[in-house]
Amino acid sequence: MTGAAADPPLLECRGVARRFRIGAGWLGRKKTLDAVDRVNLEVRRGEVLAIVGESGCGKTTLARLLLGLLAPSAGQVLLDGAPVGAIGRRALARRVQPVFQDPYSSLNPRKTLARIISLPLDVHRIGNPAQRRRRVDELMTLVGLPRRLLHAYPSQLSGGQRQRVAIARALAIEPEAMICDEPTSALDVSVQAQILNLLRELRARLGLTYVFISHDLAVVEHIADRVAVMYLGRLVELGPAASVFDRPRHPYTRALLESALTPDPRLGLPAPGLGAGFPDPLDPPPGCRFHPRCPAALADCAVAEPVAIRDQTGIIACHLFDGGGSGRAQAADGEGHDG
Ligand code: SF4
Repeated sequence: MTGAAADPPLLECRGVARRFRIGAGWLGRKKTLDAVDRVNLEVRRGEVLAIVGESGCGKTTLARLLLGLLAPSAGQVLLDGAPVGAIGRRALARRVQPVFQDPYSSLNPRKTLARIISLPLDVHRIGNPAQRRRRVDELMTLVGLPRRLLHAYPSQLSGGQRQRVAIARALAIEPEAMICDEPTSALDVSVQAQILNLLRELRARLGLTYVFISHDLAVVEHIADRVAVMYLGRLVELGPAASVFDRPRHPYTRALLESALTPDPRLGLPAPGLGAGFPDPLDPPPGCRFHPRCPAALADCAVAEPVAIRDQTGIIACHLFDGGGSGRAQAADGEGHDG
């Protein structure tokens, strides 16, 4: 259920950047890490937008920006057109909830499931105690947790059950959107499939919008409507999932897909044809940041940064699509990044 193109986006990043100052030892000088760099991105109502890329590409920082947990260094994050900084953390949390990677650390080990799931209702003062108990019962049924676990502690649960608790807690206050940051990567493959199925069912039933963040394209293939690919803080490709998976355009997207076909995707990108390994994010290459690893690099790629262009398929930031570095096609004004 993808929102119509004319709908205003539920969430939007406009030229969003987030920099961190990183120390380099007690004698070293601080360096600047551009974790997210001039990203423009829309999240349409009712869609699943997947954001993919290797560890260190900035996708988790982007998730924290969308959740209002970090303020942008430049640009704006908007919810329904209003800057999230002006909305306030509590009001934002009513509408946008996180589901994090590690259900082991995101659940308080000293609280029972009943307490954990009802906590958002307490914090937002929703319902009386009897209504909250009923709501917890409903939520446990919704996410497939047996009622006998109501008074269990997180340590008594499996990884999959813990992630179901985290999802129930996120749903307690009926948010419009969930930012799912690697929600299945700490789980066994068979349990991953169960949690993905649950998220799919919940979306269909509740009309939720998801931003689904993953390093693994194989995980998002069957849940995403659109896929955004990030590399070293930049958005390099965005398009409908079917198009990105069947006809990837950016050389980095193609490499990610080849990596997903290797027996162990955690090994990262396959070496053949990709030259150097993942660059130092504190000292990114000039020009196109992917050029030292790119098997299709042109002469201009080491010096000229590609501009994100919008076309019928989506967004692409690569000189193969913008006239070879010297030519410039129409820059994307709605999504991508401005080079
Ligand atoms: Fe490769 Fe050049 Fe495209 Fe970068 S801009 S991905 S180096 S072809």
